[in-house]
Amino acid sequence: MKHQASKATPLPDITLEDIGGLPQEMKEEIQQMLEIFKNPGTAKDMGIELPKGILLYGPPGTGKTLLAQAMAKEIGATFYSSSGASFTELFVGVGASRVRTLFQNARKQSPAVIFIDEVDALAGKRKEHGGEESEKTLTELLVQLDGGNDNDGVLFIAATNRKDMLDDAFLRPGRIDFTFNVQLPDTKGRREIIDIHTNGKTLAPNVTASLDTLAESTSGFSGAEISGLFETASRRAIREGRKLIEKHDLDFAIDRTILGNTARTLNDQ
Ligand code: ATP
Repeated sequence: MKHQASKATPLPDITLEDIGGLPQEMKEEIQQMLEIFKNPGTAKDMGIELPKGILLYGPPGTGKTLLAQAMAKEIGATFYSSSGASFTELFVGVGASRVRTLFQNARKQSPAVIFIDEVDALAGKRKEHGGEESEKTLTELLVQLDGGNDNDGVLFIAATNRKDMLDDAFLRPGRIDFTFNVQLPDTKGRREIIDIHTNGKTLAPNVTASLDTLAESTSGFSGAEISGLFETASRRAIREGRKLIEKHDLDFAIDRTILGNTARTLNDQ
């Protein structure tokens, strides 16, 4: 069943501090932007434009959804989350009407964040996109992004792995005002993500001692893959009736992730 885009989704208790590997400047820019959003009066007096649309782009599993949730939490917003694909329909006008309803509902519940993951399915380049229905849906999205007054309390956040596929009209300032590149984490970032995902887990001393090495040796891993390592390791320990996550649990999880990635790469070829 498709997720109902026009209904609010519960937000986890999350802050920017729960997201590892974000560059300090990005965090500061986001904080500043959210401050402006929270204080529209002050911003107006200072002649600062209120942010309306944000694009997060980068590889899968790097924390774009987490970031959207943390931003919504920070401004105390109602969260409307959906995937671009849930607006693609065979029947002309259905996608457009879903977009309209979503924005109408969000405006009624402001402050609100509308988060659309895989936005490329909805806002792909028009010439490649094809079809009257998708054209109408994208046009409606542009109308809604333009239509809200500056102060309607709705922040639109879109995420994609394929920024190159997006229509230029969608990316125009005034629709998308901020674009953040959410990259794969570097060693320091992976270390932060390891800390976040080991918090509350019971690790054997030799695992705790090996976490720096783990950060160094997991180049190319996304945050989701690092989080998955500890989930797999801890499930394995539980299966074997242990409370402690041992080094061999983690090694098992790493091997599985690497094998999975290799199989995916071979499949993609
Ligand atoms: P996709 O592009 O596939 O939608 P995404 O970039 O939105 O992926 P998330 O859904 O935010 O990725 O991440 C999935 C899970 O991986 C998170 O719930 C979290 O547990 C973990 N994770 C990913 N990135 C990070 C990060 N930077 N810091 C901490 N945890 C992370």
